[in-house]
Amino acid sequence: MTKDDLRNELKKIEDERKTKRNEAFINYALANNKVEYGDVVSDGSTTIKVEKFGFYVSSSEEETEGRGLIRYLMKHRHGTPFEHNLMTFFVRAPICVWREWHRHRVGFSYNEESGRYKQLEPEFYIPSRSRPMMKVEGWKPGKPKFTPCEDDEKYRRLCTNLIDSYKAAYLAYEDNLSMGFDPGLARDCLPVGIYSSCWVTCNARSLMAFLSLRTHEPDSAYPSYP
Ligand SMILES: Cc1cc2nc3c(=O)[nH]c(=O)nc-3n(C[C@H](O)[C@H](O)[C@H](O)COP(=O)(O)OP(=O)(O)OC[C@H]3O[C@@H](n4cnc5c(N)ncnc54)[C@H](O)[C@@H]3O)c2cc1C
Repeated sequence: MTKDDLRNELKKIEDERKTKRNEAFINYALANNKVEYGDVVSDGSTTIKVEKFGFYVSSSEEETEGRGLIRYLMKHRHGTPFEHNLMTFFVRAPICVWREWHRHRVGFSYNEESGRYKQLEPEFYIPSRSRPMMKVEGWKPGKPKFTPCEDDEKYRRLCTNLIDSYKAAYLAYEDNLSMGFDPGLARDCLPVGIYSSCWVTCNARSLMAFLSLRTHEPDSAYPSYP
């Protein structure tokens, strides 16, 4: 094969890829991470029963019943009564979110959709316009702060960059699959913006520990980290 033949061959492949790329059907999930409530094995009443059994607190009316007792336990960080219940959620989020979520090891059970046995859906993360995403002046790694993007052109460029790389990566993934490669290897070209789903089960204590690190509720009377 001459150099010209090779050049022509490569051009043909590139043209085919371009056509395929334009035909590709890709869903762009506009920052709509999904959380569905699956099941609750017990509600707060189990926590209250367990706590009464433990006799940790004095038996004044307000402290020993319902909300009063829950508040007392939260305030004084009595954690173990919150472990006697289970909640299950179905969550769909990008891999970059799962990387952070899976760091919560204690009291969480996960089952994730398989990328080894099935083809992953072409669903990718595009940040919504309102998401804080621009570094503020004096930005520091230890205290990162961001504001929404006010510049239309910059936001458009970000979305175009993401969409172009998502398309190219998904086409490469499909190409790897079509050649008969192991799906667990074929997926290695996919970016962290692709969505995945998990069933997540945890108890109230582990959920509070999670929320205390991942959200901030300025109006809360007792921040939830028992
Ligand atoms: C804003 C932010 C930035 C972060 N940045 C980074 C980063 O740059 N790099 C990075 O690697 N991670 C980072 N993390 C992840 C972080 O270090 C934790 O791994 C993650 O938040 C899970 O918290 P956790 O260990 O408390 O949760 P869990 O694993 O669920 O543990 C719950 C609690 O159990 C106890 N515990 C668990 N394991 C042990 C143990 N082995 N020994 C003693 N006590 C234990 C601790 O009290 C812990 O708080 C970041 C997290 C946040 C919120």
